[in-house]
Amino acid sequence: MRVFKFGGASVKDAASVKNVAKIIQNHHGTDPLVIVLSAMGKTTNALERLCALYMSDDREAMTNAFENIKSMHATIARELFPGPSHPIFNTLEQAFYQLYYYITESPGGDYNYEYDRIVSTGEMVSTLILSAYLKDAGLDNQWFAAQKLIITDAGFRDAKVDWIATSRKIKEQLTPFLKNNDKKGKPQLVITQGFLGGTPQGFTTTLGREGSDYSAAILGYALNASEVVIWKDVPGLLNGDPKIFRNTVLLENISYQEAIELAYYGATVIHPKTLKPLSSKNIPLKVKSFTQPGLPGSLINDNDQNDDQIPSYIFKFNQVLVWLYPEDFSFIAEDNLSRIFADFARHGVKINLMQHTAISFSACFDTDKTKTPALMRDLEKNFNTKHMSGLELITVRHYTRSTIDELIRGREILMEQKSRTTLQVVVAPDLSGK
Ligand code: ASP
Ligand code: MG
Repeated sequence: MRVFKFGGASVKDAASVKNVAKIIQNHHGTDPLVIVLSAMGKTTNALERLCALYMSDDREAMTNAFENIKSMHATIARELFPGPSHPIFNTLEQAFYQLYYYITESPGGDYNYEYDRIVSTGEMVSTLILSAYLKDAGLDNQWFAAQKLIITDAGFRDAKVDWIATSRKIKEQLTPFLKNNDKKGKPQLVITQGFLGGTPQGFTTTLGREGSDYSAAILGYALNASEVVIWKDVPGLLNGDPKIFRNTVLLENISYQEAIELAYYGATVIHPKTLKPLSSKNIPLKVKSFTQPGLPGSLINDNDQNDDQIPSYIFKFNQVLVWLYPEDFSFIAEDNLSRIFADFARHGVKINLMQHTAISFSACFDTDKTKTPALMRDLEKNFNTKHMSGLELITVRHYTRSTIDELIRGREILMEQKSRTTLQVVVAPDLSGK
């Protein structure tokens, strides 16, 4: 049994849906396949905007936003299905009617709860469309609601998975189903939503933005999949972001541990939570290109032999660097450190890099419009502070001297930290235009 995950970019229009169907057809051979799908294109962003309009009670803008999302899906469906009498149009009408029904009620006070009710529509309709299209193309499949498979707490917008309940639900519903072949004697094909879960009481939850990779890993884990494949618009894992970096190299094979490290430092190709469940059962994860499905892509498994072969570069922009000096000239020791960390934890600010000397502590973190000033106000209660913003944090895994010189190109280094495998520097932005 294998799990395939397709992201929003892979189903952004009718031609892309057809491409996904072709990939599924070409790979659905001798064993069952579970497909985990995201919302189409940028639908989740559009639904987030709709949700904000709903909460602010801006009726007219909200209705327009709703109509746009609905008509985007109808346009795709009209290209995929033969005529207006096809049952999919009625199915979509019902799904959007439910969304419309939600947003015509006045909003409750719990933003996160409303968010999950509204934003989940994206994955519900994308999977309904793909399932119907595959059926028309002769690929029998069964659509499952992820709310009944992935059981979570009521932490709306960032729900925590109840692993025991989830494994039980998945095994109860999917395992017996996957065991027998379909009517045509072919291994089963399951379609379900990424990103979504449900509470035991039946409320829809979401697992955090970009959470569909994680959904695929959860299903892979519970079903003891032989592999999980994430289909993306890049050829696989690259050693840098191609939007920033010209000469990227494909990482053909890295270990789970290395992939976790890369995700931790800010590489965005795989959702970080995805890797743990897979590594615990040693399930290989492949990252492949949906535009060039014939290419091998990247393989993540327990082989760490190649981890140090290629340096990887991770850039984080909009960084703040803060220096703290105890007002009473006391040393930076456990008491001062615990005060500092308590402030960061209370404001939910994650430190990307930190250092201390006898009487100063410095930390680098992402700028946030509301969190940063609130945190600074609290830090200033106990410390003299200095800070700089608009900085870059560059992380190089498996660095060499020449790679660093090339990156820094004479820019001022404001903070630097090296371990055997990883170099991190905070630098002012490059304004040279080179
Ligand atoms: N559709 C969700 C998002 O855009 C989940 C995902 O794509 O992974 O965040
Ligand atoms: Mg996505």
